[in-house]
Amino acid sequence: MSENKRILGQSSDPREAALESLFSNYDSDSITVIDLPSKGKFYKDFKGVEIEALTYLDEQNILASKDSNIDIVARLLEKSTKGVPVDELLSMDKVFLLMKVRELSYGDSYEFKVTCPKCTTDVTTDLILSKHLNKTDIPDDLEEPRTIKLPKLGVDAEVRFPRSREEIFLKDTESIYRNIYKFVVSLNGTQDPIFISKALKRLHIMDMKKLITEVVNSDYGVDPRFIFECPECSFTETLSIPLDANFFSVS
Ligand SMILES: [Zn+2]
Repeated sequence: MSENKRILGQSSDPREAALESLFSNYDSDSITVIDLPSKGKFYKDFKGVEIEALTYLDEQNILASKDSNIDIVARLLEKSTKGVPVDELLSMDKVFLLMKVRELSYGDSYEFKVTCPKCTTDVTTDLILSKHLNKTDIPDDLEEPRTIKLPKLGVDAEVRFPRSREEIFLKDTESIYRNIYKFVVSLNGTQDPIFISKALKRLHIMDMKKLITEVVNSDYGVDPRFIFECPECSFTETLSIPLDANFFSVS
């Protein structure tokens, strides 16, 4: 009832009607993305993610909270996407969607400064995102959890992909080492997390590296790396595009 009243109220206000008319042909800035790296396989009732371009106000909010500890990137996705709860997103899909939000809001070209690690020259780098980011989709028959073999111990482990809300557990080498057991669903058929956690602490370095590769650095998703070449000193290095606040503002 109250909904009905509000709609009626709006249409009888000439100012609202004029605003409606001004923006009536302007709702095309949203797209629906279906081709996620995960293909949406692991989301309930997946029908794509709808993305809206950032508004000027969004950009200002991002810049204002740049130096705080708030996860700006997650908040931004919450605001500009619909279809899958941001917490539930696989990390591979999250990065891909961030790229899409940026592309929709500012276009495909991304200009940023890199300070050369060797001669400290500030180099302006310009990338065409869609050209530089190779997306690798998961194969159709990939299941979650999936089984991998630990090369040294010679047993099977079932592992799963991290969700966006779990990235906090994998933010640096130490936390990865401490928390990777959370992503091992079973080890040699045993599902007890305490057993798994204790067993992982005794793993051979090759087995641990295999686990980290599968869980944290899987080949699926977009690859945000590019080759940096310093025009001053010819220093060359592979760098990652930083997905921080600067990525979402035209500076
Ligand atoms: Zn240099």
